[in-house]
Amino acid sequence: MGFRIAMAGLDGGRLNIGACSLGDAQAALDMALAYSAERKAFGKEIGQFQAIQFKLADMATELEAARLMLYSAAAKLDAKTGDASKACAMAKRFSTDTGFNVANEALQIHGGYGYLAEYGVEKIVRDLRVHQILEGTNEIMRVIIARQLTA
Ligand SMILES: Cc1cc2nc3c(=O)[nH]c(=O)nc-3n(C[C@H](O)[C@H](O)[C@H](O)COP(=O)(O)OP(=O)(O)OC[C@H]3O[C@@H](n4cnc5c(N)ncnc54)[C@H](O)[C@@H]3O)c2cc1C
Repeated sequence: MGFRIAMAGLDGGRLNIGACSLGDAQAALDMALAYSAERKAFGKEIGQFQAIQFKLADMATELEAARLMLYSAAAKLDAKTGDASKACAMAKRFSTDTGFNVANEALQIHGGYGYLAEYGVEKIVRDLRVHQILEGTNEIMRVIIARQLTA
């Protein structure tokens, strides 16, 4: 019984890690937007290249999807629905994978400067990498989701 109570406590922790990922990824997207409006290559701001615009559009879209999934899981946890643990595992897996991918794309948009500590993006990438491991790895999130799907 105690083990079950302890495990249930992890649901909220997983939402917390997911939310941290999304907040940091939003910061990385904001930095990429600012940098792409300022950095010039081939005579114009890199934000005017469609390849960069498409990256930014995908980053914003995926962040929004992850945010909505996280809010939905949080609402299920508050309401103590039967599928709340599965929803929290899905939200943790998706938010942390999305957060890392968005931050990694933000680093790419910064080019070589993204790799340097003074720009701050590389720290966000490093910080978000561990969220795919913390509070149960994303493989274990898949184990939880699959177990509930096949129960
Ligand atoms: C910076 C940091 C801070 C941490 N803070 C805390 C903390 O405050 N409190 C706390 O309790 N813990 C904390 N941890 C520990 C963290 O929760 C564990 O590292 C994490 O749960 C993974 O466990 P493990 O490292 O033992 O990996 P392992 O269990 O050894 O897993 C190794 C690899 O095998 C995979 N794997 C394992 N089992 C399966 C399976 N059944 N199916 C598929 N793949 C599997 C894993 O996904 C992983 O890729 C922290 C870890 C880090 C890195």
